[in-house]
Amino acid sequence: METMSEPFYVTTPIYYVNDAPHIGHAYTTVAADVLARWRRMWGDDVVFLTGTDEHGLKVQRSAEARGLAPLDWATTNSDLFRQAWDDLDITYDDYIRTTEPRHRAAVQAMLQRVYDAGDIELDSYEGLYCVGCELYYKEDELEGGTNCPIHGAPVEHVVEENYFFRLSRYEDRLLQHYADHPEAVQPAGKRNEVLGLIKQGLQDFSISRTSISWGIPLPWDAEHVAYVWFDALINYCTAVGYPDDREQFTRYWPVNYHLIGKDILRQHAVYWPAMLMAAGEEPPQCVFAHGYLLVGGEKMSKTRLNQIAPADLVADFGVDGFRYHFLVDQRFGPDGDFSYEAMVARYNADLANNFGNLANRVLNMAVNYCGGIVPDTRADGPLVQQASDAFAALTALLGELDYAGGFGAVWDLIRHTNAYIEDQAPWALNKAGETAAVAAVLGDCLETLRIVALLASPIIPQAAAELWRRLGLPGRPEDQRLPEVAAWGQLPPGANLEKGTPLFPRIESGEA
Ligand SMILES: [Zn+2]
Repeated sequence: METMSEPFYVTTPIYYVNDAPHIGHAYTTVAADVLARWRRMWGDDVVFLTGTDEHGLKVQRSAEARGLAPLDWATTNSDLFRQAWDDLDITYDDYIRTTEPRHRAAVQAMLQRVYDAGDIELDSYEGLYCVGCELYYKEDELEGGTNCPIHGAPVEHVVEENYFFRLSRYEDRLLQHYADHPEAVQPAGKRNEVLGLIKQGLQDFSISRTSISWGIPLPWDAEHVAYVWFDALINYCTAVGYPDDREQFTRYWPVNYHLIGKDILRQHAVYWPAMLMAAGEEPPQCVFAHGYLLVGGEKMSKTRLNQIAPADLVADFGVDGFRYHFLVDQRFGPDGDFSYEAMVARYNADLANNFGNLANRVLNMAVNYCGGIVPDTRADGPLVQQASDAFAALTALLGELDYAGGFGAVWDLIRHTNAYIEDQAPWALNKAGETAAVAAVLGDCLETLRIVALLASPIIPQAAAELWRRLGLPGRPEDQRLPEVAAWGQLPPGANLEKGTPLFPRIESGEA
């Protein structure tokens, strides 16, 4: 383990194995990946965790319906998620499955801690329950007093004897926590929502079931298995060594970012910090909830049959085109509406035209006018300030998870450079035999391309690496160390340049 570098821990939700990977899952996962890649370039000791949630009644029933053991069914589907992430160049460091022995040990240890602290008690309860959310609702939280606000389906009136987590005891501590750490829920609108929920009063929630066998038994009462949130959420601790490897755990905990969709905000920003407090651990540093990715104005769902698989879009746009669209066109925070046409338009404008053309024309001119050799770059070209501004803006905005703003600044640099070429017209300078001026202008542009490849590499890793190679640079941009490598003037003169096929071929039609 590197001890000099800063730990940085980022997670996606663990995805439910009864689902198939769709672009909503991919959205969160790509966002986490960009952040992980960016922090690695800063030399951080990154742990990027994703994985699958594999217990519960729905998994048990789906497996039974197929004549399979639950674990086999879970394995098949967990592998589909893993494949989807491999296909999108997701650089997770750990892929957790809640059926792993390490997770069972962590869940049982945390349950025991909370039970010993007196915050888990046997009780009977009746309330209005949504099976889809695995949550109790109060009547005034329901649509029309009867339907789940997330699923729109009627809730059930349930009476049960179960173990309950005494969430109601944590109202004051949660409010104090969020007063002390206003950054702990983002964006600000979501923070206000969470504060509102807590101030309305919190209800204890059930953490066990006797009716299910597919789960982790409570350590003090094996008739019960842990239910949903007291299983799934604990994965974030399991992956960094809880409970046995205290040294590793305290290195990465509290987590820097839990990236989640807003439908699981309550569980992550109310239940989870309280569970951690009850277990004597620190709450997350930041829960960042993004909006829904809508398709045709509606949330994706199996029943509406409007789920889109990442692979369908990767076939048309490539891995980089997919990643770029979801983080730049779909702002990370509010709801976004997916449209194929908008994706084509954005791809053509930003990737094929701005990025692709810049790389293409600069490399072509450098090969034609400078013999394919990097000329001496000057220290004071007119693009120096713009390159430095782009780096500063990207750094500041990724610090706020503003992907669209951050990479927008890099694309501003690309547009400035394209305008600079138009203005300087190196083809005219070349025709006039002004060799030194040609070398100066193209040297500026090549150095800018180096910086663009570097800064864009977290979001378009494949094209950035190829551009880096064509610039005659060794290694890959993602292996470079910021901030030093972002400083102007590091393209080695004399290196061999290579032109090549377009990095982002234009997509001509609106439909594939
Ligand atoms: Zn629901």
